[in-house]
Amino acid sequence: MKEKEFRIIDKSCIVCGRKLKIKLYEDGSYRNGQYFGVLNVPVGRGKDRKIGAARLGNMKCDVFEWTGRKMKAEYWECDECFDEA
Ligand SMILES: [Zn+2]
Repeated sequence: MKEKEFRIIDKSCIVCGRKLKIKLYEDGSYRNGQYFGVLNVPVGRGKDRKIGAARLGNMKCDVFEWTGRKMKAEYWECDECFDEA
């Protein structure tokens, strides 16, 4: 059986910054990382602003909104970070 065709794309892990060499196959599947789609990622210096509180079961937690700059970025994690989550 013939190996599936793939190309290598360079990405980096959002969590630890490690360089990832993703093997992307023709059918859209991939290896060597975990892809979560395109997200708004906070960049640079910014502040979390408290915008309210929420209740999780009987735990109260504050809700924050990022007030700094955001950019759309592909969100990748390496397998190690993904395993720890
Ligand atoms: Zn990582």
